[in-house]
Amino acid sequence: MSVRETVGEAAAAADALRALGTSGRAALLRGIAQGLDDARASLISAAVDETHLPVARLDGEVTRTANQARLFAEILEDGDYLGRIQDGEALRRVLVPLGVVAVFGASNFPFAFGVPGGDTVSALAAGCPVVVKAHPGHPRTSALAFEVLRQAVVAAGLPAGAIGMVSGFDDGARLVTDPGVAAVGFTGSTAGGRALYDLAVSRPAPIPFFGELGSVNPVVISPEAARRRPEELARTLTESIVASTGQLCTKPNLLLVPDGAGELVAHLRERFAASDPTELLNEGIADRFDSALSAWQHRVGARSLVESGRTPDGVRSAALVQLGAEDDVAGFEEAFGPATALLTYGDLKQAAGRIARMPGQLTVSVFAEEDELPGLGSLLAAAERVAGRVVFDQVPTGVAVTRSMTHGGPYPATTAASSTSVGGTAIARWLRPVTYQNVPLSLLPPELRTPEPALGVGAH
Ligand code: NAP
Repeated sequence: MSVRETVGEAAAAADALRALGTSGRAALLRGIAQGLDDARASLISAAVDETHLPVARLDGEVTRTANQARLFAEILEDGDYLGRIQDGEALRRVLVPLGVVAVFGASNFPFAFGVPGGDTVSALAAGCPVVVKAHPGHPRTSALAFEVLRQAVVAAGLPAGAIGMVSGFDDGARLVTDPGVAAVGFTGSTAGGRALYDLAVSRPAPIPFFGELGSVNPVVISPEAARRRPEELARTLTESIVASTGQLCTKPNLLLVPDGAGELVAHLRERFAASDPTELLNEGIADRFDSALSAWQHRVGARSLVESGRTPDGVRSAALVQLGAEDDVAGFEEAFGPATALLTYGDLKQAAGRIARMPGQLTVSVFAEEDELPGLGSLLAAAERVAGRVVFDQVPTGVAVTRSMTHGGPYPATTAASSTSVGGTAIARWLRPVTYQNVPLSLLPPELRTPEPALGVGAH
């Protein structure tokens, strides 16, 4: 089936999806969650073959993906997501679905950011049919997950086309430019996301493009934290950096360490050198990792502290690079794999200045001691200015799927700084407000038909 036909079938299912109502769509999402649980063994077996990620990690990811669908079911039942506001009897506002949503998943999360991932279930929750673009890194896993979604959609009494799938590079571009598509959710590289974003906004009718892209995720280690717990911090940070072979969008790529933190640096070198070589997701990721790492090593004043052990078939061990003390980190980009760079600072004011000058980030993290808290105000303010999540005394890897979570940030962390792709408010991306003025109750959409005490009543 062509992209045009797939999108056409999805668009034709929009009314049925809306008519299911919030409780019907909550049941659909629970059906998807159950389907993922039921198909767990075959999903994991395909993903192990295609991604080389360990079974335990993939098993956890299936659980997280199913729970993500259940979270949106609860959010639908609460009804707050509808953003209903009423002024007197005449004006009533509600959020309505945008239309067909195109979803591009990333290679490193075949489930949570893949075919059945957060973008797909939040869009279905909002009442938007979805067409996914299968990732070439895991085609079989994508097909199996798609089957789970299809079965749940049909079991909910919807036309099968409410969820569609296309594959191939060119069909990805066709999908973004198809006039029947109303919005795009993308998780992946900055280069890929930017190319598709440019297509989305240069269409005759531009559409919103929610791209979750790459991030450096700087971590600042305070002078006292580096002095008092060098060994513990080296262990915690190394574990976070090498987890999933460093292929996490929240992996710290840059550690800001105070001048004179020799003990911390020595422990980091030791841990990096001892880390096990593991296989990256695919050749493309391995090539991109090698060139990003080489770009770090060629920055003015940079030197390698621990070289990445490598084999031609994509196995890599962890690399540690020391940046020149004068490096302003302009143009410093993530190396998607097991590597991090160290940059020294003189005092916390200088560290705050460096963070404030960085481009948008998914996360900024700070490790510090209790007695240093009074001196951390400007650092936290700088972190808030550039990041979607500010982390204190914890590593940024591991994104909790909860109502309050923000997984976003200013460009280039995302292409839409006012949104999140993880957490309860991720549904807001696929909705737009409509205000009904003086419309008789019987003609209002069901979400507005019953006057509810929960509706906010504005002064004017
Ligand atoms: P990717 O190469 O950008 O691929 C993502 C998807 O976009 C694939 O389906 C790809 O298809 C498609 N695509 C990319 N460029 C395209 C273009 N110009 N035209 C049409 N389609 C295009 O990303 P990835 O390598 O899978 O994922 C790794 C990256 O994702 C890392 O940089 C990581 O930081 C980021 N990531 C971000 C998050 C987040 O939440 N912010 C989460 C996970 C990963 P083709 O391969 O067919 O081109």
